[in-house]
Amino acid sequence: MTITADIPVDQLRSRFRGAIITPQDDSYEAAASVWNGSIRRRPAVIARCTGAADVLAAIEFGRRHDLLTAVRGGGHNIAGNATCDGGLVIDLSGLRSVRVDPARRRAYVDPGCVWGDVDNQTQAFGLAVPGGIVSTTGVAGFTVGGGFGHLTRRFGFASDNLVGADVVTADGRFLHVADHENDDLMWGIRGGGGNFGVVTGFEFQLHEVGPDVLGGLIFHPAERAPSLLRFLRDYLPASAEELTVFTILRKAPTAPFVPPEFHGQPVIANLVVHSGDLNKAERDLAPLRHFAKPLVDLVSRRPYTAIQALTDASWASGFENYWKSDYLVGIPDGAIEVLTGHLATITSTLSDFKIAYLGGAAARLPDGSALSHRDQPFLLNINTRWPLGGPPESHVGWTQSLFEAMKPFSAGKVYVNFLMDEGRERVLAAYGPDKHERLVALKRRYDPDNFFRLNQNIRP
Ligand SMILES: Cc1cc2nc3c(=O)[nH]c(=O)nc-3n(C[C@H](O)[C@H](O)[C@H](O)COP(=O)(O)OP(=O)(O)OC[C@H]3O[C@@H](n4cnc5c(N)ncnc54)[C@H](O)[C@@H]3O)c2cc1C
Repeated sequence: MTITADIPVDQLRSRFRGAIITPQDDSYEAAASVWNGSIRRRPAVIARCTGAADVLAAIEFGRRHDLLTAVRGGGHNIAGNATCDGGLVIDLSGLRSVRVDPARRRAYVDPGCVWGDVDNQTQAFGLAVPGGIVSTTGVAGFTVGGGFGHLTRRFGFASDNLVGADVVTADGRFLHVADHENDDLMWGIRGGGGNFGVVTGFEFQLHEVGPDVLGGLIFHPAERAPSLLRFLRDYLPASAEELTVFTILRKAPTAPFVPPEFHGQPVIANLVVHSGDLNKAERDLAPLRHFAKPLVDLVSRRPYTAIQALTDASWASGFENYWKSDYLVGIPDGAIEVLTGHLATITSTLSDFKIAYLGGAAARLPDGSALSHRDQPFLLNINTRWPLGGPPESHVGWTQSLFEAMKPFSAGKVYVNFLMDEGRERVLAAYGPDKHERLVALKRRYDPDNFFRLNQNIRP
């Protein structure tokens, strides 16, 4: 069956420089798939752009033929909005250049870049911008949704460090945005997602980081989870802003660095990164490292680029994934009971659930963008994962049970980049009523027909 039959693809081909991929092409299956293997959609046309001119042509084509249109950066979004059924994908994944201006501390980043591309170039000059904790995550979707990682407590979200961008809007305008240029749109793309246009170039401010940082994983047995979580809820708010801790609850991997008797057993691990002075880092981390004798402490001085890729292997594409997430207002004893109870019943050796502690610059920077909920200290993300084609029921059920049981410890606020397709209420929860209202006004101005609707949608 050719699902492109009714779409005059040749019209686009004649004015498009990049590859046009349809179901007849050998490269189609790979091009149509996204990071989350649970998403199996069949777009009619994938337009792999070589630059802004191709984006302009693809948007015009999509509009003229009223095509359901997805925008793909790194393809990592859990909801799978970077692909679609029967429509057009504006695929930016071939655009992966990064140019660094070390004197001005700026990076100019193409919209198909992943964080590893950016770190590789910026670290050549001892510079960095806050990226994600997995180096294969796309810069584009991450940044337009906010984006936090190991440098966020020190330098804010990725979107806080975005100082300019080129955007193609639904009506085919090419706009430069910055704080004093189309500043309404600048406000919107710093957290408001892909609702307002396609970003074809990002300009980030950079900070001095590395080249070496102190970091790694510290594993403890599951029995220690309650006392460790109690320790963390006091230690983290007073900890240095150069330090980031992701607390991970999961079954231990079958890896040589884990004692064999703990392989496959529930554990609690802290992924720690201190990006400041290395001697200060040793001092700042000492209380956490000496809190109790761990199963294994893998913290060492490592290149920043290595720490950014440390957990990549656990998060490769080609697996089924189901996520639920909420900000937590704290980790009281009741929450610890729920978390440790669900650690004991986790359904897959590939799954984990983590708590990130934010605060610091993340909370302190001015609230000048669509990014919401800076004041929320703890972020719970339940990342459930199982082999491709495996039955989902037990995994989804376990995830929902944990999520529901944690609701009393959340103010019902959620981080937009961790949302699956969860409906309108959850999009509202991602922004709160005031910002949502302002986003709706912006959507009416820049995309009144809701051409860009495959996202956490702001309805015009
Ligand atoms: C393994 C893994 C680790 C992660 N780690 C982190 C983390 O540490 N911190 C964090 O904050 N998030 C993290 N995330 C979530 C991540 O922020 C989102 O998945 C984000 O959407 C990824 O961006 P992408 O470009 O890869 O996504 P895509 O799936 O390509 O795009 C997602 C959406 O972004 C929009 N979009 C994409 N490109 C553009 C563009 N050029 N212009 C305008 N809109 C665009 C579109 O609406 C699209 O549907 C992680 C995700 C995964 C799967």
